[in-house]
Amino acid sequence: MNILLLGAPGAGKGTQAELLQKRHGWTWLSTGDMLRRLAGEMTSDKPHIERLCDIMAEGRLIPDYLMVMLLEEEFKRSCYEDGFILDGFPRTEVQVEHLTELLKKKGKSLDAVILLSVDKQAVLARIEGRRFCPECRAGYHLTTQPPKKEGVCDKCKTALTQREDDTAKTLTRRLEVFRIQTEPILPYYRKKKNILTEISGTQSVKQVSADIEKAIETMKKQKKEEK
Ligand code: AMP
Repeated sequence: MNILLLGAPGAGKGTQAELLQKRHGWTWLSTGDMLRRLAGEMTSDKPHIERLCDIMAEGRLIPDYLMVMLLEEEFKRSCYEDGFILDGFPRTEVQVEHLTELLKKKGKSLDAVILLSVDKQAVLARIEGRRFCPECRAGYHLTTQPPKKEGVCDKCKTALTQREDDTAKTLTRRLEVFRIQTEPILPYYRKKKNILTEISGTQSVKQVSADIEKAIETMKKQKKEEK
């Protein structure tokens, strides 16, 4: 299945995408991770990447033309053929248009859109405790999902880091950007017949995951009945 996860920063999209990938084998595409990988390739002869890093650190959005180009390139890979989980794209109305067109060209469509809703206070508490492994991308949280050994990834033993944009100040900007630039895309998916399910992202990881599985099962059944 092709799943789109939507939600404000800190709503739990990455955590849930990782669980979906493990459970179903669909390929998880996080555009934030994709950009962070690009940022890691920064050298003095690539000044444009430095600009990307600045935009991300400030909590603003990368220009649409660039995001669309990166996504199109990424989608050429065969790993997206047997199902994917899209996390972090689309974030603007222009990106919605491009994604719809791109999928159409490939004879694909989204099977389910999951909107994880959260309030600002919950997000703040979550984001400040977030840590991740720069090597294998595993995610942790200091209070709700700590690693076995403090500061070290359980899976590959790499030292955990905090994202540069996971600070209270940048988060306020990111939430504002979500409200102004991303929320306007929601009516588009709400209008599409029975595709969007809204789930409270403030529940436990396990409960959110169970709700997502239920929504996916419902979508699958619907799809079968439509055939
Ligand atoms: P995320 O990990 O999804 O929170 O993304 C981290 C940062 O990457 C965002 O704050 C943006 O600066 C940038 N970014 C990720 N996805 C997009 C996108 N679809 N459009 C524009 N900027 C993006």
